[in-house]
Amino acid sequence: MAFCTNCGNQIEEGASFCQQCGTATGNAPAKANNQPVEEGSTFGWGVLGFFVPLVGLILFLIWKDEYPKRSKSAGVGALVSVIAVVALYILLFALMFIFAMAVPAAVMG
Ligand SMILES: [Zn+2]
Repeated sequence: MAFCTNCGNQIEEGASFCQQCGTATGNAPAKANNQPVEEGSTFGWGVLGFFVPLVGLILFLIWKDEYPKRSKSAGVGALVSVIAVVALYILLFALMFIFAMAVPAAVMG
């Protein structure tokens, strides 16, 4: 149980101010720091992550504590980009494979 530093009144656990005199108890700053940061729209960071996956990954790692929403958008953008590139390579490989199989067969008759 905490006591007010100003008047000595007993203060409820987790209370920000003394009920007797209104002095801040020290719980207030910790609570204020936990307020989520206003991050606005994070769509742009997702687009950035998509076009520059490496930057998206770096931003994801830098921001994951301070700006969770921006971090997630940048990370998702980078992830989607990587998946798209991998899918494109698989598609190209499949096409090359089909051509490699089909062209000699066509030439041979
Ligand atoms: Zn007090």
